Amino acid sequence: MEKNLHQVREIEQLTPETFLIHLDRQNFEFKPGQYVILRNPETGEGREYSIYSSTREDRLSFLVREIKDGDFSRFLKHLKPGSSLMVEGPRGFFILDEQSLNGHPLLFIATGTGISPFHSFVNSYDKLNYEVLHGVHFADEAYGRSAFAEDRFCLCTSREDKGDYFGRVSYYLKEKPVDKELICYLCGNSDMIEEVTNMLETHGISPENIRTEVFF
Ligand SMILES: Cc1cc2nc3c(=O)[nH]c(=O)nc-3n(C[C@H](O)[C@H](O)[C@H](O)COP(=O)(O)OP(=O)(O)OC[C@H]3O[C@@H](n4cnc5c(N)ncnc54)[C@H](O)[C@@H]3O)c2cc1C
Repeated sequence: MEKNLHQVREIEQLTPETFLIHLDRQNFEFKPGQYVILRNPETGEGREYSIYSSTREDRLSFLVREIKDGDFSRFLKHLKPGSSLMVEGPRGFFILDEQSLNGHPLLFIATGTGISPFHSFVNSYDKLNYEVLHGVHFADEAYGRSAFAEDRFCLCTSREDKGDYFGRVSYYLKEKPVDKELICYLCGNSDMIEEVTNMLETHGISPENIRTEVFF
């Protein structure tokens, strides 16, 4: 497995709890949708993070939620430009197959920072036929929304009525039946993924067309 030190360019705070970490990409190659392990080069401690940036950029970016009492996310938040991080990878198989790349209708469902692989997909490939459901608590958590076509993006806010839909992504899917032919990509917390997978299967989507990446 490739392991290299990358320099931190910037920590970009998006909300009080969430930030982007931008690293020099160097010659790091990956497929959109993959993740890496970021490690503290001094202690060796590390965690998995999905790549947020596209294959077209010269920087490597990650969208991170700072977890209260979470060791690693707080370590990342306090990194200074010019310091180094170990990047191990890429890893994972949450990538688009030929059919998905060739215009097949896709449904992307994310919660919170689970929007990262989808952000990388749409910025890396031009002609995806997708719709996105992004589930967050508050409207200011619509990370990277401008990367998605306005008419293909729906922000589901569960704690305030300021998004496109007031309620969780699972409520949205209960109200609006989905086409059985969709290929669905789900990324985020395990509760959402389990609930939505069951719901999509009930709507008639075959299990091989439901692809998942669990963050926690
Ligand atoms: C394949 C994969 C990809 C991942 N990609 C990302 C990513 O792109 N961005 C990201 O922020 N995290 C991502 N994670 C989670 C990440 O690896 C860490 O678990 C997270 O940053 C917390 O680490 P910590 O040491 O701060 O807290 P810990 O003490 O390790 O975790 C404490 C608790 O925080 C909760 N938690 C973990 N991650 C999140 C999150 N993203 N949002 C809300 N609650 C969470 C969980 O309940 C966890 O048990 C990913 C995990 C996996 C397995």
